[in-house]
Amino acid sequence: MLKLTVDAQRWHNYLTAFVDSCPGIVPVTKGNGYGFGHALTVQESQRLGVDVIAVGVAQEVASVREHGWDKDVVVLNPWRPGDQVATELLSDPKVITTISRVEDVAAVRELAPDAPILVEVETSMHRHGVRADEVAALDLDGLNVRGWTIHLPSGATLDEGREMARTVMRHPMASRGIWFSHLSCDDYVTLSKELDVPVRMRVGTRLWLGDVDAYRVTGTVLDIHWLPKGTPVGYHRIKTRADGYIVVVSGGTAHGVALSAPISAGSLRQWLIPGAEALQQMVGRVTSPFTVAGRRAVFAEPPHMHSSLVFVGGPGEPAQVGDEVPVNVRMTTATFDEIRVK
Ligand SMILES: *Cc1c(COP(=O)(O)O)cnc(C)c1O
Repeated sequence: MLKLTVDAQRWHNYLTAFVDSCPGIVPVTKGNGYGFGHALTVQESQRLGVDVIAVGVAQEVASVREHGWDKDVVVLNPWRPGDQVATELLSDPKVITTISRVEDVAAVRELAPDAPILVEVETSMHRHGVRADEVAALDLDGLNVRGWTIHLPSGATLDEGREMARTVMRHPMASRGIWFSHLSCDDYVTLSKELDVPVRMRVGTRLWLGDVDAYRVTGTVLDIHWLPKGTPVGYHRIKTRADGYIVVVSGGTAHGVALSAPISAGSLRQWLIPGAEALQQMVGRVTSPFTVAGRRAVFAEPPHMHSSLVFVGGPGEPAQVGDEVPVNVRMTTATFDEIRVK
């Protein structure tokens, strides 16, 4: 069982302090809710008293609603004509749809002119957005424009934010406000003071995952076997390179554990290609995300669906069945069997 344990008091305090120092932020709770799940991110957003949250895709709106969110929701991925769920949500007055192409402005005017929308402007990220030189002349008449959206690359500067704001200011509907992503809190507060339009900022990672001591991920030791050097182990019968312990720990590919193995993409690929020889060559070289007896253990073979075999050299038993061991996972790609808030 892979478990996420959240130190409730510490996490609450951090989130509250963050929102206080960065007022008006819009918590982003897309994907797996940054590891915490929508139940917790919704509950915390309610406790923080924010008036709007953001999800990644239209299909995630139902999930945050099921968990009790009844205020506004922004869908960050821009609307496209082929997305049926996103199109149905155009008629939901509490869903704010992102529009990022000139032709989609026209399509939404046809489909649902009352739909609350944010108009995205292309930034130096070059992901989505109406081109900066198209903004001034963009025809938004009759649409329910809630604001403009500017998704800056991470680590963006205040000047880049200012430059994008100047682009928006050329449009008569600039006064509806600008929603930024990826400014520092200081730069966001500065811009809010400089601009005489409402300013908001979407934040995910820095909010939910900002205090790394407020949560921890653990796997449980399920079994432990001492084996002499050269013993074939696991599905692939890879031989151990030394005397030592095979420790079977909960946490595997189904939890996203392999994705967080701190090894290069090249060696991971090589390792995941089934081939006895390639696997044997990698033995002892691939550091696992599991910390056993105070050290990062190496994988004995590629992780299984729900557990992993790691090798820990002797002498001295490194762990006991039932021990909880720290696991280093990437929170946005992890799936937990249990989330404990205490
Ligand atoms: C994901 C996303 C965010 C949040 O990003 P973090 O780096 O997790 O804070 C903000 N804005 C947009 C448009 C996004 O897609």
